[in-house]
Amino acid sequence: MAQGTQGKPNYAFFEGKIVPFEDAKISVMTHALNYGTGVFGGLRGYWNADEEQLFVFRPHDHFERFLQSANMMRIDLAYQPADLVQILLDLLRTEGLRENCYVRPLAYKSTEMIGVKLHDVDDALTIFALPFGSYVNNKEDGLHVGFSSWRRVDDNAIPARGKVTGAYANSALIKTEAHLAGYDEALVLNSSGHLSETSASNIFLVRKGVVYTPPVYADVLEGITRRTVIHLLREDMGIEVVERDIDRTELYVADEVFLCGTGVQIAAITRIEHRPVANGVMGPITQRIHDLYHSLVRGQLEKYREWLTPVYVKQTEQA
Ligand code: PMP
Repeated sequence: MAQGTQGKPNYAFFEGKIVPFEDAKISVMTHALNYGTGVFGGLRGYWNADEEQLFVFRPHDHFERFLQSANMMRIDLAYQPADLVQILLDLLRTEGLRENCYVRPLAYKSTEMIGVKLHDVDDALTIFALPFGSYVNNKEDGLHVGFSSWRRVDDNAIPARGKVTGAYANSALIKTEAHLAGYDEALVLNSSGHLSETSASNIFLVRKGVVYTPPVYADVLEGITRRTVIHLLREDMGIEVVERDIDRTELYVADEVFLCGTGVQIAAITRIEHRPVANGVMGPITQRIHDLYHSLVRGQLEKYREWLTPVYVKQTEQA
């Protein structure tokens, strides 16, 4: 039996309350399991040992996108982002996590029925959290990637913007093809032949000091980390960022290429289809954005504290 590499949660938010994880079960006839009619999110919590605090990164923004995805799939949760943040905080306090963790909210069509459609099917929400380290092996020497033979799902087929569970069959095909070919990840072109993203992260490239990334109309998920990186590059590092279509071969001539996402965090790509990116080591802009990102998510940069939600209430703050 295939084993997951991560531990299991102890609890889940399920059917409106926090329950032991073993009790959060669904039927094999559940609509979303059969038809991919769900939407999900992925957030990280970072443990700051000095402050004995767990910081969740941009939960409001993640839940806002999550509810937008739900709306695309006609999943009506009757929650606002602030309600979901509160549920998450309650869940994390119940779990009592004191280490880095990953959070998975999942909204889905829950009725036990045969019939593919979105109307007249009940909606449900679950959230769980588990300890979680690196998602890809963030090797010091960077990632080796290839171009996928699969195209990214088209906005007029299944919106990549929507983080729809069914659309991740596309990501799974992409990821396993890359793995079997000996690559760490794959770069994916959209149906117009331009770069979109990878199986589960957004992509940036650097040419002569300017940073480029595919635009939001290139069949990408509008990543929260992508938004963060654009902000840091522009506002903190004073670097120009251009959102425009990117050709396949532009990757070959880039000075630096890196991925970003909640799971991957910031990961340098140093080889593309057996060609080194520039001199084949992590470039200076990637290194700076990597270091900045890792400091800020752990609460080490005061000016970015507003992006972090602390989980635990401190004694001094209780009075
Ligand atoms: N693209 C895809 C396809 C993804 O699944 C993810 C991860 N959720 C991302 C990009 C990165 O998004 P975020 O920064 O919001 O995690």
